[in-house]
Amino acid sequence: MGTFLGYRCSMCGAEYDPDAVTYTCPVDGGNLDITLDYERIRDRTKLSDLMASTESSIWRYLPLLPVDDPGHLDTPLRAVGWTPLFAPSRLAEELGLSNLWLKDDGRNPTASFKDRASAVVVARAQAIGAEVVVTASTGNAGAALAGMAAAVGMPAVILAPQTAPQAKVAQLLIFGARVFLIEGSYDQAFDLTLEAAEAFGWYCRNTGYNPFTAEGKKTAAFEICEQLTRAEGMVREPPLQWETPDVVFVSVGDGNIISGLHKGFKDLYELGWIGRVPRLYGVQSHGSAAIYNAFTSGTEEIKPVKAQTLADSISVDLPRDGLRAVRAATETGGAFLAVQDEDILEAVRELAQKAAVFAEPAGAASYAGLIRALSDGHVGPMENIVVLNTGSGLKDVNAAMKAAGEAIIIEPKLEALEKALL
Ligand SMILES: *Cc1c(COP(=O)(O)O)cnc(C)c1O
Ligand SMILES: [Zn+2]
Repeated sequence: MGTFLGYRCSMCGAEYDPDAVTYTCPVDGGNLDITLDYERIRDRTKLSDLMASTESSIWRYLPLLPVDDPGHLDTPLRAVGWTPLFAPSRLAEELGLSNLWLKDDGRNPTASFKDRASAVVVARAQAIGAEVVVTASTGNAGAALAGMAAAVGMPAVILAPQTAPQAKVAQLLIFGARVFLIEGSYDQAFDLTLEAAEAFGWYCRNTGYNPFTAEGKKTAAFEICEQLTRAEGMVREPPLQWETPDVVFVSVGDGNIISGLHKGFKDLYELGWIGRVPRLYGVQSHGSAAIYNAFTSGTEEIKPVKAQTLADSISVDLPRDGLRAVRAATETGGAFLAVQDEDILEAVRELAQKAAVFAEPAGAASYAGLIRALSDGHVGPMENIVVLNTGSGLKDVNAAMKAAGEAIIIEPKLEALEKALL
């Protein structure tokens, strides 16, 4: 370790040593940012060392993470991240954009962005000798934790709303976690998880509560900059700095992914490895828009809503990382946008049919946000734009069927096919 300095509260600014606190600020319950010794990192690691790494996972950024090498070479912990960043030319052409990039985080071991967080949380759980890990989840965080825990043989307990899509529940079960479906909302599962962790001494991964989730999620920011640099052919000589996009679009529920991305870009900026931080755009569904509401009324105070959206992964009454999420947009010159569920379904279709990316609704919401941002003049056609897909469409096939419609059933005869083709 040696570069993990401790924590700083996002509300009151109080600082804590690495082992002084576990989750949130004891004074005000604020989320904790992890602080790193940038000088020491700079002394030990050069950008060219990182670029020479042969590790195709988040662990290529180990010098920037507050955990030791978990060392599980043959487990899915090793396969998290380093997801493809590519230029979807058909989509770009249709939208008249010259620098559009898609990063597909549906291609993680458990098929969502949450693997980044869960891998780092499990590494932390091992470092502090935790015996059982627990999380509340709309589905993906749980699947990721269950998968990572299975990889290292650590028991996991997952609490999810009863309404979670079946494929996500199947993932929880098949990874061998103890699964409890709550007769209630994600928010109720969240609160129960905190009580249970306290009562039973479990290590809690809850999003917007455990400070290590954002540290895992920040690796996507590192990848975006490094992959853009590679894509633009800057690898001949060691670059002094990495490229940065102008804008990043990401869907938002609790607000921890956007906060994690912000932390990642800030880390790189503090290290002098990028020259500026991109504008971050958070996209919510109108049916679950607590952070959007705060942003548009110019406050950092998050008021709960009664969430209802088909994008289940971003269906949250009270976002647990709302404050830092609002700041991710305001401090970078980005914004929060809200889109309708129909726009999200349209985005699922567009991504699949024009870029061959099959996203779950929450994953495609970021793309729906780009469409909104273009029509509202938030971004220009020459800007370098990254859209993040956060989850695979196979997670929620019912939603996909809503977007795609039904298949036609025919008799196994040519005439029947001919007739149906009309
Ligand atoms: C969790 C999740 C999000 C939102 O992340 P938050 O940290 O809750 O804002 C978006 N998309 C998918 C697929 C997710 O699983
Ligand atoms: Zn505090």
